[in-house]
Amino acid sequence: MNAPTHSPPQRASEMSPPLAPFLVGDHLALDFLNTTASPRGAAIEWIATGRDLVGWLRSVDLLDDRDAESIGSRIPAADLDTAASEAIALREWFRGVLARIKQSGRAALLPDDLARLNKVLAHEASVTALEPSPDGHGLRMVNHPIWRSAGELLVPIAAAMADVLAEGEMSLVRRCENPACTLWFYDRTKGHRRRWCSPSMCGNRAKVAAFRVRKRLKA
Ligand SMILES: [Zn+2]
Repeated sequence: MNAPTHSPPQRASEMSPPLAPFLVGDHLALDFLNTTASPRGAAIEWIATGRDLVGWLRSVDLLDDRDAESIGSRIPAADLDTAASEAIALREWFRGVLARIKQSGRAALLPDDLARLNKVLAHEASVTALEPSPDGHGLRMVNHPIWRSAGELLVPIAAAMADVLAEGEMSLVRRCENPACTLWFYDRTKGHRRRWCSPSMCGNRAKVAAFRVRKRLKA
């Protein structure tokens, strides 16, 4: 991955063909952080509009097709666009929070940070229903989001961020080792030695570069 440039980001949904999100984070909050990236130097944005945001939530299975369709038909496009702008602001705030915590530990979290996240979480609206359990032999209580307003779309994202902040092992929340790559991941590998967003993207690039260096040294 190359260094990002400062031209306005390109919308992933407008690329031909549309570029699928990079779901390499192994944690919803980090996949969300990766909704902007610069794989070939120019910045790409996956949640530029309300429609893009709904599409991204669908791609990570936070919404099913029916939810996505009903949200698109019930909630005004302008409200969804506002939610997308708020989502981008939330994402960049979270990026800053992670950088602070990586540097100074959880003590770097301020009361304002908690208030910021709690304000988004307060939009939660859901109904609880009794349903047959998946094995067909029992019943279970299930909590379904209602998706009544655009602000609710940010709730599962904020909940994932809260999970990282409250429960995450911060040494396992890392950025890809390619200095030009902006992608984050939660290292769930057994030995905790994950280094790259993806072995086929940055990992392979690093391998090829190391091979070239070795070849030059031998020559
Ligand atoms: Zn990378």
